[in-house]
Amino acid sequence: MMTEGKQVWMDGRLVEFANARVHVLNHTLHYGVGVFEGIRAYPTPRGGAIFRLKEHVARLIASARVYHMPIPYSAAEIERAILDTQAANEILPSYIRPLVYRGEPGLGVKNTTGKVSLAVAAIPAKKYLGDGSDAGVRAKISPFRKPPSYALPSYAKAVGNYVNSYLAGVDAQQEGYEEAILLDSNGYVAEGSGENIFLVRNGTVYTPGLESDILLGVTRDSVLRMARDLGYPVVEKLLSTNELLTADEAFFSGTYAELAPITDVGHYKIGTETPGPVTRDIMALFHRVIRGEESKYASWLTPVPTLAAAARRPARR
Ligand code: PMP
Repeated sequence: MMTEGKQVWMDGRLVEFANARVHVLNHTLHYGVGVFEGIRAYPTPRGGAIFRLKEHVARLIASARVYHMPIPYSAAEIERAILDTQAANEILPSYIRPLVYRGEPGLGVKNTTGKVSLAVAAIPAKKYLGDGSDAGVRAKISPFRKPPSYALPSYAKAVGNYVNSYLAGVDAQQEGYEEAILLDSNGYVAEGSGENIFLVRNGTVYTPGLESDILLGVTRDSVLRMARDLGYPVVEKLLSTNELLTADEAFFSGTYAELAPITDVGHYKIGTETPGPVTRDIMALFHRVIRGEESKYASWLTPVPTLAAAARRPARR
């Protein structure tokens, strides 16, 4: 079997990667009721550091609340579990995947009583959206739209939401594109299959808001802050496909994708150079921030203690 990591944290224990298993009749597998996060750890001059750990844990807890899945750990305990998992796997850069699920046999859709479990895995982070993602991504507008939030709340990062991302992403891939751009049910631009989207028009940075049934991305939030700090006006609003196809620049943001400029949308070329100047400026700052080179954003990086240091810590529970 593929061994991408060394150990997986499961309900308080680090287990060997190959033994991180659940029962096949578990509720999450059958109905998609589970919530998760995607987090990155980066190498910095002072060792490994996790990007925006608190915000990811807060979103995990908020997502779990929407799905009636009280996580049996506090925010501080979940942060610890993530840091311990990263320390145990010693992979950098890494992609960390906390998953909240019901892992025991429990068929029946309305199961709200099955045991809620937390698992945290850390695997090597690879470049996403093709190897040349810094050079740009070819995307297409997907025939699959975002489900409206009155059907599936987009603000919760739920397992089941990704059947929609899967259909859109695979369609784009089979058509020879690297990523899909999904519209919301009213036809406004929403997001990529696993990324938020930004447009630049006349020096202003635009991105859809929650009314377009997007996930409120942690990277999106970081871009909004960095763009403002760099002096660009930032506007969250409904965005039409007209505004997308005639944008000066466009880019995706996401934990896995990081910042990826969009070169084409279907047959339309976006702007004249990729990345465009504003995207380049924001990307350059982002890369300094994640490498720990911008003291102003130091609070976005949580240092990863070594496993030895973690083991010396007194038990919390
Ligand atoms: N939208 C969707 C649908 C996603 O899956 C992701 C990835 N979590 C994002 C946006 C970007 O969110 P973040 O920046 O928090 O990774």
